[in-house]
Amino acid sequence: MTEAHPSVPTAARSLISSRSRSLIVAALTLAVITGVGSHALGVFKPTETTVTELAPGVFFRKMEWQPNFIGCNQGWIIFDDFVLVIEASFPNQAAELIKEIRKTTDKPIKFVFDTHWHGDHADGNPILIAEGASAIASEQAREQFLQKGIPSYEKQKQEKPAEYGKLNYGVPSLYFPKKMVIEDSKQRVELIHFGHGHTAGDAVAWLPKQGILFTGDSCINGPFNYTGESNTANWIAVLTEMAKLPVKIVCPGHGDQSDNLLIEQQRRYFVELRQAIQEGINAGKSLEEIKKSLDMPWFKTWTGVDVKERVENIEHVYKELTQKA
Ligand SMILES: [Zn+2]
Repeated sequence: MTEAHPSVPTAARSLISSRSRSLIVAALTLAVITGVGSHALGVFKPTETTVTELAPGVFFRKMEWQPNFIGCNQGWIIFDDFVLVIEASFPNQAAELIKEIRKTTDKPIKFVFDTHWHGDHADGNPILIAEGASAIASEQAREQFLQKGIPSYEKQKQEKPAEYGKLNYGVPSLYFPKKMVIEDSKQRVELIHFGHGHTAGDAVAWLPKQGILFTGDSCINGPFNYTGESNTANWIAVLTEMAKLPVKIVCPGHGDQSDNLLIEQQRRYFVELRQAIQEGINAGKSLEEIKKSLDMPWFKTWTGVDVKERVENIEHVYKELTQKA
């Protein structure tokens, strides 16, 4: 794995390309009819994002993933004297984020919190570190930044020199075991590691005053779940804990913002997926037979993708359930 954007499954990628093809055809047709250049239509802008001020000084930047996947969702929180960034994303998005932040405050960017090591969440660290920020992650993520993050970043640097430039990887310099609180007269942010979910080092940012939860890829909104480094049994436990917080707004790692029902929906996917696969195993079915028999219409309503198309996840859960002692 360690793809540039490990959160986007193969199925979603093909979905992106087929959808973007039809969009391109439609837009080209429109451009011909109206004589407007397709760039003026705005639908292809690769850096298209939406910034929302969720509460005073609390911003959510939703990243587009169609027609192009350009990174993870981000956020920033303005304290009395400094700014905390949530998710660096890719280097060019870290640079774009700084421009967005500067429209809202001139306070220094002191911290960038990485929910986990994946490149689409943390490869922009060096851009923010060069700006004066210190990167923070859970202590359980430290080994992944060192063992997986560095080689993955070096590979990206070779493949995308224009974006990755000359800066070296930004390994976090602040680690917390379970919880870290950043607080002043304006804001309180709790960075919490609930356990091994999407990756072993996952952490979330919880704003108790406003009821806002930035989840990283522990909870996503769309066909983005990547299970390659996950522990799905524990992921369910992590989501159960998250759901106990009095959450009003969920800012997922990918996809639209939502409310606490999204956590329940994300949890339901893993509960039902594990259950269906276990039943198949108990009935003596092969992996191929199980793949064919999966049926979860609500998942397609939610993500736009049939549960059968999320092959990586099915194979991962099957492996988890059959390798048990
Ligand atoms: Zn991820």
